[in-house]
Amino acid sequence: MTGVIAFLFGAVVGSFLNVCADRLPEGQSLLRPPSHCPACGRPLSPLDMVPVVSYLALRGKCRSCAAPIPPRVLVMEIATGLLFTYIWITSGWSLDTLLLALAGSILLLVAAIDLERQLVLNSVLALGLPMGLVSAPLWSADVWQPLWSVGNAPLGALLDAITAGIVGLVVFLIVVLVSRGGMGLGDVKLAAVVGIWVGLRGLAVALFVAAVSGGVVALLLLAMRVKGRKDRIPFAPFLALGGMSALLWGQELSARYLELMTRAGP
Ligand SMILES: [Zn+2]
Repeated sequence: MTGVIAFLFGAVVGSFLNVCADRLPEGQSLLRPPSHCPACGRPLSPLDMVPVVSYLALRGKCRSCAAPIPPRVLVMEIATGLLFTYIWITSGWSLDTLLLALAGSILLLVAAIDLERQLVLNSVLALGLPMGLVSAPLWSADVWQPLWSVGNAPLGALLDAITAGIVGLVVFLIVVLVSRGGMGLGDVKLAAVVGIWVGLRGLAVALFVAAVSGGVVALLLLAMRVKGRKDRIPFAPFLALGGMSALLWGQELSARYLELMTRAGP
C-alpha cells in the first residue's frame, strides 16, 4: 500500500519536473502563468493535471484544440513514480530516501532536457551542485562511503565529494578534447556535479555505467542508421543513469568488485 503512495507522490513530482523541462530552457517562471496548452493557450483545469491519468484519459491530446501533448509528459510521470517506489521499498523512512529522491529528480530533469534540446542547463547544475555538497556528509554508509577515512567523518565526506567532482571534470575535459565536439562542455559540468553527488567510489561506478550504456546505445543507433557518425548523441542521460546506479547499487557493486579482485589475487 505504501508503495502505491510512493508511486503517486513520484508521479506528482514527475509532473512538476515536466513543468521545469518545458519552462526552464525558455527562461520562463515556474509559477506564472498557470499551466496552459502551449498551442491554444487554454488554461488547464485540475482535471487535466492528474499525473498519468489525465494523459491517458485525453489520449495525449489537448482537450480543446487536440494539439498533441509530448509523450515525455507521460514517460516522466511514470519514470519518477517507479523510481520513487523503488527508493521507498529499498530505503524506507530514512534520510537516504529523501536524498535519493532529490538526486533522482534532478538527474531525470537533466536527462529529459538534454534528450529534447541537446542542452545541459546551467541553472539545473547550479542547483544540483550545492545540494550534492550538503548531502555528502548526510548519507548512510549503505549508500555512500568516502574512499579514504580522515579523522573527521563529515569533513572526509566533503573532501571526497569535492575530489570526485574535480576528477569527473578532468576526465570529461580530456574526453571533450580528444573527441573534438563529440561531447559538449555541458557534459563536463554535469560530470563534475555527478561526482560531487556520488563521491569517488560512486564515480567509478557512474563512469563505467555511463560509458557502457552510452556505447551500446550509440552502436545500436549507428547500426540502425538512426544516427550518422557525425551526429551528436546526447550523453547527459547516460551520465544521469550512471550517477543514479552509483547511488542505488554503488556500494554493493564496488564491494563485489573488490571481493573479486582479492580472490583473483595471489
Ligand atoms: Zn490546446
